[in-house]
Amino acid sequence: MPRYTDDSKERVRDAVDMADLVGTRTELRRAGVNRLQGLCPFHEERTPSFGIDPVRKVFHCFGCGEGGDLFRFVELTEGVDFKGALELLADRYGVQLELAEEDAASAQRRQERERLLELLERTAAFYVRYLWESEEAAGARGYLAGRGLEEPHLREFRVGYAPSAWDKVLIASRRAGFSNRELWDSGLAQRAKGEGKLFDRFRRRIMFPLCDARGRVLGFGARAMGEGQQPKYVNSSDNAVYHKGKHLFGGDIARAHAARAGTVILAEGYTDVIAMHQAGLKHTVGLMGTALTEDQVGELGRLAPTVQLALDADSAGQEAMLRAARVAAGRKLELRVVPLPAGSDPADLVKAAGARAMQELVDRSVPFVRFRVERELERAELGSAEGKDRVIDALRPVFAGIPPSAMREDLIAHVADRIDISPALVGSWLAGGPGASPQRAPRPQAGGPGSNGAPASRPQARAIDATARAERDFLVQVIADPAHGRRALAALDLEAAFSGDLARRAAAHLREQPGDPTTGVDSGDRELGAFLAELAVRASDVRPSESALEAQSLTLDLRRVERDITAARHAEAGDIAPLVARREELRTRLDRAIERTMAETGESE
Ligand code: ZN
Repeated sequence: MPRYTDDSKERVRDAVDMADLVGTRTELRRAGVNRLQGLCPFHEERTPSFGIDPVRKVFHCFGCGEGGDLFRFVELTEGVDFKGALELLADRYGVQLELAEEDAASAQRRQERERLLELLERTAAFYVRYLWESEEAAGARGYLAGRGLEEPHLREFRVGYAPSAWDKVLIASRRAGFSNRELWDSGLAQRAKGEGKLFDRFRRRIMFPLCDARGRVLGFGARAMGEGQQPKYVNSSDNAVYHKGKHLFGGDIARAHAARAGTVILAEGYTDVIAMHQAGLKHTVGLMGTALTEDQVGELGRLAPTVQLALDADSAGQEAMLRAARVAAGRKLELRVVPLPAGSDPADLVKAAGARAMQELVDRSVPFVRFRVERELERAELGSAEGKDRVIDALRPVFAGIPPSAMREDLIAHVADRIDISPALVGSWLAGGPGASPQRAPRPQAGGPGSNGAPASRPQARAIDATARAERDFLVQVIADPAHGRRALAALDLEAAFSGDLARRAAAHLREQPGDPTTGVDSGDRELGAFLAELAVRASDVRPSESALEAQSLTLDLRRVERDITAARHAEAGDIAPLVARREELRTRLDRAIERTMAETGESE
């Protein structure tokens, strides 16, 4: 894919008026030395916790944690990728973009990739022909028909069949000019042990092409058709184009439908997805033979704001739903659960009860939190007092994630009814009120958003500990006072001074350019971009001060010595007296630096 020059990117950055850009989304007011603030466009709020630094062109929300540079802002508000954001801004602010000349190595990589995609595409077409035209695939056609799947839908998903012969794909591909190396790289060929002779990797299997968002075939999921053939399912192994857990099965076909419906259904098996489409539920996608990954949750979020989980109701399926909720926690995704009867999957249901029945089930989907409450109640032994106590304990973290709402009251009434105790009492127990043991009292954010099923679940700002806060405040001061900041950073051993990887990477970046914190950050590195934006927005409200910088830097040293002391105590590693002496020295110096900082502040007021 061609890319634009770094210089183009910087010219766009220079041209954009950040206050003007953000001002179209939320009203901004001056709120600090160099900070504008307003209501966050990314979460519901009544008092402003969203800030921008119009000079450095970064934004950060102290409420939900969203943040980054101007390009990230456009990615989020316009729903485009980095390249799209760059093009949109260039257009709006009249900047001419220049394409970077491809170096020989990346040109070669791109050509190799294109060859692989072509090979995979041809092979998918070959499998499709083989399924519908060959004698050998009669059994596979029978199996698919037996699952109730019809030809037009199977063709839409380009379902195919890999013959049992050892070399059909090899021979056809070689004839079309593909090399052994390319066959090997595509994951279509396998090598015999010892002799190194190539043969077809997929044989006697129904083939489900796995595609990217644009519908390009990247690999295959394959189901065995032979008697006793193992394993039953195999996937392409990771290669230059296919990466396990990155995509959703049917995402390319479901995209437009999901956008229209405002919701996307997630099913487990390939045939489940096709059966759902056949039942008119064309906003259905599937996992690709893996547990739900972070990447897939991100992909679901791009398809629609609500995800309806239509996973098997067996315990494996329920575990999968809990895992999905954990992965989705902190995202702006509403999770709902489709109440499938135990022991049946969507394909069975569509076949047995029809499309209409399946649609009705989907319409009856419940918020994920209601599903969790039901699940705990089902597992509980409600005949005994101990059993009731246990279910209250199990439900407390679930309720900690539900904000005060009609749904919360309704769920409390439901639990009260099932355990036969008054709703008022159940409500106070679940809230960690009287009767709840203190160590079990819920933390304010326990359960997390996303698990509560409330419509506007939103990301939370990272809760950070004192060490992380000290590291952050130091870096903020570095940005506020770049000249001294550069020197302070140069004197530090970053590996030892920072406890976390993110702060360490930010420090390494700032060491090069403390005055210009977000330029030159890889647009794919969102975590670093957002963190640097947060630091810059914080710095826009901080007065540069050499003694404050010294105090922050001493605090880091002190934290590290404290970590070393704790570690030495745990390891019972000999004499810790030198460490304790060092701690005392640092404390004294820190006190003095703080006194000086306070004196400076006093003078200026
Ligand atoms: Zn926010």
